[in-house]
Amino acid sequence: MRIVVKVGTSTLTHESGRINIRRIETLCKVLSDIKNAGHELILVSSGAIGLGVGKLNLKDKPEDMPTKQAAAAIGQCELMYLYDKKFLEYNHIVAQILITGADFENETSSNNIRNTIDRLLELNVMPVVNENDSIVTDEISVGDNDTLAAIVAKKVEADLMIVLSDIDGLYTANPREDPNAEIIDVVFSITPEIYELAGTKGTRLGTGGMITKIKAAEIAMEAGIDMIIANGTHPENLYRILDGEKVGTKFRGRK
Ligand code: GLU
Repeated sequence: MRIVVKVGTSTLTHESGRINIRRIETLCKVLSDIKNAGHELILVSSGAIGLGVGKLNLKDKPEDMPTKQAAAAIGQCELMYLYDKKFLEYNHIVAQILITGADFENETSSNNIRNTIDRLLELNVMPVVNENDSIVTDEISVGDNDTLAAIVAKKVEADLMIVLSDIDGLYTANPREDPNAEIIDVVFSITPEIYELAGTKGTRLGTGGMITKIKAAEIAMEAGIDMIIANGTHPENLYRILDGEKVGTKFRGRK
């Protein structure tokens, strides 16, 4: 299978913005193992801005564009350094691909993205994709990596997209407020009610929250790709998903 896995900042970092070492080590180990089992993996990883904030010891995620872009430039470096080092332990090679929204609007760039990713996968290399946060402007940015992952999944005709988040899936109510909230196993179509369930809140260092995941699901489903939201606190959830277990919320792609 060709699988796009998206990991959010909340999965990769502690609240402080510092890297969650245990988490990233487990994630890299599990992803390496899934590659060893013969799957093609494309990792869409957030965390550049979050790690930059941590490394610079800033109190909060910056509001102004130059600081945000500087933080991303610093954090992206650390992110790739970590992936490079960790995946090498399991004999896997990673490659960085930084994209902006404009690249998908330009046919040549967009085909180049596809060709490069295809070639990397043929070479048994794992592409690690992020938005090129250091140079984007609001006009040309995709804005969040849930959407970016869905656009990439569509472009490379992935079989499955998995979004690892800090929540188990989509709930019938906000589980942080309502003890009766239950997880929804499968979503067949995105209705206004689904958007309502998604609420609005993201995490302190991350971007999206549930809304962007629903938007991403819409893109994936439309392209005929199943998308699963699962909890990234335990990266071993990826094994369970591939073993066919019911994990998180599955958005069924249109077949
Ligand atoms: N591209 C951003 C980063 O790496 C994250 C965007 C998102 O969280 O969706 O920090």
